[in-house]
Amino acid sequence: MGRTVVVLGGGISGLAASYYLSRAPCAPKVVLVEGSERLGGWIRSVRGPDGAVFELGPRGIRPAGALGARTLQLVMLGGSWFQTLEAKGSAVSQEALRRQAQEAAATQLGLKEPPSHCLVHTHRNCIPQYTLGHWKKLDSAAQFLAAQRLPLTLAGASYEGVAVTDCIESGRRAAARVLGSEPSS
Ligand SMILES: Cc1cc2nc3c(=O)[nH]c(=O)nc-3n(C[C@H](O)[C@H](O)[C@H](O)COP(=O)(O)OP(=O)(O)OC[C@H]3O[C@@H](n4cnc5c(N)ncnc54)[C@H](O)[C@@H]3O)c2cc1C
Repeated sequence: MGRTVVVLGGGISGLAASYYLSRAPCAPKVVLVEGSERLGGWIRSVRGPDGAVFELGPRGIRPAGALGARTLQLVMLGGSWFQTLEAKGSAVSQEALRRQAQEAAATQLGLKEPPSHCLVHTHRNCIPQYTLGHWKKLDSAAQFLAAQRLPLTLAGASYEGVAVTDCIESGRRAAARVLGSEPSS
């Protein structure tokens, strides 16, 4: 009987892993398990009530064709600035975030005109923040999986880089480990 590989999560990392697995010369059966109602994970475009298309994730990935060309600019705010405000107990309203984004676009990009369309979303814990010793933890997890002979390999933004390209490479390498064409650690 042929081999079956289960890929958990249909974000870009899981999609990349599935793609590389299914393109292998002796491709296993690939079962992609996604917990939400859609594929893509953080890569997501949404349409506002007036029909304008916004990126909620990476701004470089847009719908194809003319629609993508008209997709609106993402202004991403966060990090310590946001955490400090919240820690002080300040209510961070959607309006305050919109103003902050508009100021940032004016200062950083020279866009002085107010936006014609605006959509504010708050994503919590949306980009993994690696802490000191991250690589040691990864090494130790890889050693544990190898020592226990667990048929499991890790891929995704939590491990080897958060950029979309890192995630695709992480999925490719995970597929190669599963197929035995790359060592497991
Ligand atoms: C606002 C924002 C802007 C960004 N901008 C950029 C950018 O400009 N350039 C860039 O390179 N990168 C950018 N990134 C980073 C990049 O988009 C992410 O790191 C990448 O998309 C993460 O992909 P992933 O597949 O590893 O994880 P995710 O996208 O988190 O996908 C994981 C998937 O697994 C599913 N899942 C989770 N648990 C389970 C479970 N138990 N069972 C089944 N399914 C499960 C989830 O529903 C999800 O679909 C941005 C990210 C954000 C949030």
